[in-house]
Amino acid sequence: MKYAVASRGDTISDDLITQITASLNEFGLSQDQESPEVVISVGGDGTLLQAFHDYSHRLEETAFVGVHTGHLGFYADWIPSEVDNLIIHIAKTPYQVVEYPLLEVVVRYGDETKPKRYLALNESTIKNSEGSSLVCNVEIKGEVFETFRGDGLCISTPSGSTAYNKALGGAILHPSLASLQISEMASINNRVYRTVGSPLVLPQHHTCLLKLLDNTDVQVTIDHYTINHEEIASIQCRVAEEKIRFARFRPFPFWKRVKESFIGE
Ligand code: NAP
Ligand code: MN
Repeated sequence: MKYAVASRGDTISDDLITQITASLNEFGLSQDQESPEVVISVGGDGTLLQAFHDYSHRLEETAFVGVHTGHLGFYADWIPSEVDNLIIHIAKTPYQVVEYPLLEVVVRYGDETKPKRYLALNESTIKNSEGSSLVCNVEIKGEVFETFRGDGLCISTPSGSTAYNKALGGAILHPSLASLQISEMASINNRVYRTVGSPLVLPQHHTCLLKLLDNTDVQVTIDHYTINHEEIASIQCRVAEEKIRFARFRPFPFWKRVKESFIGE
């Protein structure tokens, strides 16, 4: 079996990677950073997000597993002291795969730039830049739902619902619900402007289109990336056809993961 490694780049993560590669090579596995079957991410969620984007062109052939070294590690289940155990699992056991839904984002531009398609593991956000409000029409399934005015909107995946979305008062969604969630950032609500005010959860195949009105000077993010482009006209979101695959060597139910991350063990 071919594996790849991804590190946060700190000494602890790099040292663990040295240990992991030495042991896996001893077991006869080969490191292949180009076309791995398993990607071992060592660091935190940020490291796993980066690894996801590095291999997003071959998601069907790739399974991810995360080790966390000090940070939250919502996606990274394994701790450094368990690495020997994890190595044996990877080398010896056929593993199960758990699939989580992803968000498809299509960004269209006000100039001649061709539309671009992105996949997000956590979320995409659209925000005002430089003090002005974001003003956009929110269309759901081709119908205008509301005109949003405020700081921004966050469209998250179920596994991303515990990240930025949670800080915005969104619900935590189980990843078996192939869906996306739209949550507001400081919407303006008064006699003149009105938004629904609650997070919305859309099922598969329901498309949400955010069409910019007054300003095109906005900031669009995909997970930890910011799209650098002046004239964004719209962003279209829906549940992607693709999924992320996690290698599961032992059960670790989502709600247990939520409890350990936010309530304590
Ligand atoms: P970061 O600033 O390190 O991320 C913020 C925190 O979110 C970190 O503790 C990170 O864990 C954790 N996290 C990431 N994905 C998560 C998930 N699915 N569930 C629960 N917690 C999660 O930046 P980053 O590591 O590059 O991560 C980018 C993410 O930060 C974005 O996708 C966005 O969700 C989140 N973010 C949150 C806020 C907010 O809550 N106000 C604002 C901006 C961005 P690790 O420490 O293990 O990396
Ligand atoms: Mn991080």
